[in-house]
Amino acid sequence: MQTVKFEELELSKEIKNAVEDMGFEEATPIQTEAIPYMLEGRDVIGQAQTGTGKTAAFGIPILEMLDSKIKKPQALILCPTRELAIQVAEEIKKLSKYKRSIKNLPVYGGQSIERQIKSLKRGVHIIIGTPGRVMDHMRRGTLKTDNITKVVLDEADVMLDMGFRDDIETILKGIPKDRQTIFFSATMPKPILDLTKKYQKNPEFVKVVHKELTVPSIEQIYFEVKESIKLEVLSRLLDMYNPKLSLVFCNTKKRVDELVTQLQARGYFADALHGDMNQAKRNRVMDKFRNGIVEVLVATDVAARGIDVDDVEVVFNFDLPRDEEYYVHRIGRTGRAGKTGRAFSFVVGKEIYRLKDIKRYTKTKIARQSIPTLSDVEGIKTSIFLDDLRTTLDEGNFEKYVKYIDRLLEEDYTSIDIAAALMKITMEKENKEEIEVDNDLQNTGAEPGMVRLFINIGKKHKIRPGDVVGAIAGETGMSGKLIGTIDIYDKFTFVEVPKEYARDVLMIMKNNQIKGKKINIEPANAK
Ligand code: ADP
Ligand code: MG
Repeated sequence: MQTVKFEELELSKEIKNAVEDMGFEEATPIQTEAIPYMLEGRDVIGQAQTGTGKTAAFGIPILEMLDSKIKKPQALILCPTRELAIQVAEEIKKLSKYKRSIKNLPVYGGQSIERQIKSLKRGVHIIIGTPGRVMDHMRRGTLKTDNITKVVLDEADVMLDMGFRDDIETILKGIPKDRQTIFFSATMPKPILDLTKKYQKNPEFVKVVHKELTVPSIEQIYFEVKESIKLEVLSRLLDMYNPKLSLVFCNTKKRVDELVTQLQARGYFADALHGDMNQAKRNRVMDKFRNGIVEVLVATDVAARGIDVDDVEVVFNFDLPRDEEYYVHRIGRTGRAGKTGRAFSFVVGKEIYRLKDIKRYTKTKIARQSIPTLSDVEGIKTSIFLDDLRTTLDEGNFEKYVKYIDRLLEEDYTSIDIAAALMKITMEKENKEEIEVDNDLQNTGAEPGMVRLFINIGKKHKIRPGDVVGAIAGETGMSGKLIGTIDIYDKFTFVEVPKEYARDVLMIMKNNQIKGKKINIEPANAK
């Protein structure tokens, strides 16, 4: 994987700063290859999978090459759908943060055309649109193509699949021939190659291919989570498996720093490793990690590349990697030197499709698991404790304690009771905090087996029981039937949920929304 840092590309300060703010550390392979050709003014065909940063691959050179003083469209980006057009427009907006005079505008069907015309009249440099609406504007003369020197067909394969071929040809024919024509696509079926032949001049074909890589035989698991509960799930998994050393991957430096702060606040021995740190600082962190002073190392892909630690027990993909190859690199950090390893990946929403790509690429099994409940955590903790106990029993060397136990036996306690009581003390010392939280749930004035929760919205906010059931069931995945009594007052609501779900409901609904309104939720006080 040949990649470069953004500093090594010949880019303006404005772009470098924007990219820095976005938390990008290194150009992705497709960016590394495509950006220089585009800057030379060449036609490019770029092929790389979803999530590999194709938007910036064409967005950056476009922003670099525009003349902001000419207040007319100079670049046209065609996207298959409204959502994609908006996404691309947002990414370009972020990239142009320090090139404030550059204006971009998404145009798509379904939005008032008058509003778009008004914006177009005010002067726009980059148009991002769906083929139908772009054609419409060209026909009306509201989109003048005279100054367009760059056309990008983003997700070209999808546009052809959606039947946009004729529209695309009409648009391309309506734009001055003296232009740069760029195709980006995840796949390159023949119809696209036909189009490139017809409309491009001596294009450079940039294809990011994957090397075959061997995946270590480690246990690979994924969890479907929401962004907002990733931290909690990570904490539970860390508590459950209690790995000596674990490596957590985030996609940007910013995310690394945020997560380290949050983990440290929760009492984990966590530290960061990323490209912003100088070599001396990195070495210090790595030494601490090797010696177990840092137990959870949170890193970006780039920074982790040189890590040579054999005892990493668990790798977490806190953010799913953008690239299949990264996945293999990441999980290859565990299960080394014949040791067993685990890889846990968090998958949010549509990322499930990227996970499918990863599975296909790695040809391995990545099994889905449901988010561990607190009783799972307790179960695993107990079995880990029993394992430790067995080891201690096998190793011996506890004779000096035997006399104390003998004394207890003389006092007529049985050995089973003594062992169980010892275990209780040990386990509860660890679980103390959780038990304190549980106390909150003991006395909420609910029916037996239920917990009553307080939510700070009510009739005034036009909340009905269905909204509460829908939100809780929808967000937590529990069946709505399990939800008990709901009392809605003017400004607040009480709802009862089964005890075993209460903590999950609290965790997931905290800072979440009901009917678009941000809520607070806590255990109710007894009536
Ligand atoms: P594609 O079009 O190839 O599917 P996108 O352009 O939508 O991919 O990028 C996917 C995600 O990766 C976006 O969130 C984007 O901000 C991010 N991204 C792009 N380039 C980089 C980079 N060099 N480093 C880190 N993140 C990046
Ligand atoms: Mg894209």
